[in-house]
Amino acid sequence: MIDETRCTRCGRCAEVCEYHALAVVGLRVLVFPALCHGCGSCLRVCPEGAISERQHGIGRLSTGVTAGGCRLSQGLMHVGEPMATPIVRALKRWPPAFAPAVPGIDCTLEIRDAPPGASCPVVETMRGADYLLLVTEPTPFGLHDLRQVVPIATELGIPAGVVINREGIGDAAVAAYCEEAGLPVLMRIPMERRFAEAIAAGRTLVEAAPEYGPAFRELLATIRATVAPAAPVALAAAGGGGR
Ligand code: SF4
Ligand code: SF4
Repeated sequence: MIDETRCTRCGRCAEVCEYHALAVVGLRVLVFPALCHGCGSCLRVCPEGAISERQHGIGRLSTGVTAGGCRLSQGLMHVGEPMATPIVRALKRWPPAFAPAVPGIDCTLEIRDAPPGASCPVVETMRGADYLLLVTEPTPFGLHDLRQVVPIATELGIPAGVVINREGIGDAAVAAYCEEAGLPVLMRIPMERRFAEAIAAGRTLVEAAPEYGPAFRELLATIRATVAPAAPVALAAAGGGGR
């Protein structure tokens, strides 16, 4: 909200807003709430203290415990809300990271599942993570998203590794890029009809193919060894096709 009695129409709020959610037009500051990412930059730069935040519900957070005893939390946006970033940010703060879901269950791993691509919700999911697991596929689509997200991980200072899913459907360009960018390929999962059928039926890959259990345990051990062997780990999973 803009306090018109304090505002001098200096325009600094509109200049700092990367999302064009503010515009100074004549004697008025126009606010476009649907474009606002809630970054708070305008509040910080306003020399008159004329800007205040107003609570606006954009979705719901919910949490529960899976059959295996893991805590699962999700954020659901209200229909028509365009900005997912604030709900991702809220989800990261709630419930407290590593809160025990069931006594005796290992709570030293937090897995954040990001949407595909390199948009703001992906960046917010990655921010603060200890490791980034990039799940991709050997196609131009997978390579495109990988090329976008890897520089972001570098800028955020997050170590990253790659899982190549559906191996066999495309070409070697993704593997070549990983080598060129110094990204370790931690796992390869071939394209098999039984995997697709199991996942379409709501089953996990390991339920469909128990022989992959040790490979996933090894994957986690490698990530833990890269980050800090004894510490809690926040792992962000992002990437392009094949997720
Ligand atoms: S920065 Fe503050 S004073 Fe300047 S135009 Fe924006 S709301 Fe008004
Ligand atoms: S909070 Fe950020 S995105 Fe929203 S209007 Fe202010 S500067 Fe723009």
